[in-house]
Amino acid sequence: MSALIVECRPAADEGAVGFLIRALALNCSSMREALEYTYGHSRRHIQSDASNAFAQLTGVPQSWFEHRLPSVSGKDRWQEVRLFGQAWRDDWTLRGTHQQVCLDCLAEHGYARMEWDLAAYTACHHHQIVLLDHCGECGRGISPDRPALDVCSCGRYLATENKPADAAVVRWSALIAGALASRRDVIEGDGLIAMEPLRGMSLDGGYRVLLAFGGGKATLKGQVMNGVATWLRSADLHDILASALSRMAVSVNLARAGRTELQRCADSLAEQKLRGISPFDRAAAGHLLEAIGQAPRWRNRQPIYHDQRDLFR
Ligand SMILES: [Zn+2]
Ligand SMILES: [Zn+2]
Repeated sequence: MSALIVECRPAADEGAVGFLIRALALNCSSMREALEYTYGHSRRHIQSDASNAFAQLTGVPQSWFEHRLPSVSGKDRWQEVRLFGQAWRDDWTLRGTHQQVCLDCLAEHGYARMEWDLAAYTACHHHQIVLLDHCGECGRGISPDRPALDVCSCGRYLATENKPADAAVVRWSALIAGALASRRDVIEGDGLIAMEPLRGMSLDGGYRVLLAFGGGKATLKGQVMNGVATWLRSADLHDILASALSRMAVSVNLARAGRTELQRCADSLAEQKLRGISPFDRAAAGHLLEAIGQAPRWRNRQPIYHDQRDLFR
């Protein structure tokens, strides 16, 4: 039973926020109205704590929203996020309120794919183009509070000249989409990547290793969206992933990258060695650190265990 008059059913690979935008637009309502209805006040972040209310609003099962909306829980020293049945270390992996779209997919299917909700997914693996995350007219980021999936909150249609995506990034994108769809050729039982060179890592871990090879956290901090808020532009992140994948394919590329780059990569790997979400993620970061010829650092620091059970694995 749906509280909305015009009923709307989600597609198999549709994202929850995109689905809400679509269902609300069909009913001449908006995300702002829906959030006020749901939380009792306006709110920016859309998380799984509202799944029950969204289920009542749309008639779609609560578990569907719980799977596709981030659920943030405080761990010992930081927050862990669960989304798409997997654990993520923090918000850098997730786009949150900063949305991105493939206009070709929207034109063909009319709904937003779930993988667009991950920052790690920067290029459409169907159309092999970089995703769009801002309005060409007003320059602002694409907000969940917009009148329709292909219309900016400023009221104008989203439009862009398609930027062709790097072939390796398209393969990485396809891996993410396959993982979310639980395809056996790209993901093992526990949600671990089944493809070289990231085999055995979690999606979060694989993404962080790529970021390390793409220049580390320092590169991310340089990405500014809208000239105001710091955020990762899809196109910039696509370029970082492209250089990371080419460096990982030919490790000599990293040696040529210069001392600063090598140092940044090593710093990010060392951090991942301490903070990786799974024991394998941490171990893999340690091995990579050795492989690029960088000494282990922070010897006085202990690995952080997310879960007491990790100690016995
Ligand atoms: Zn597409
Ligand atoms: Zn706009």
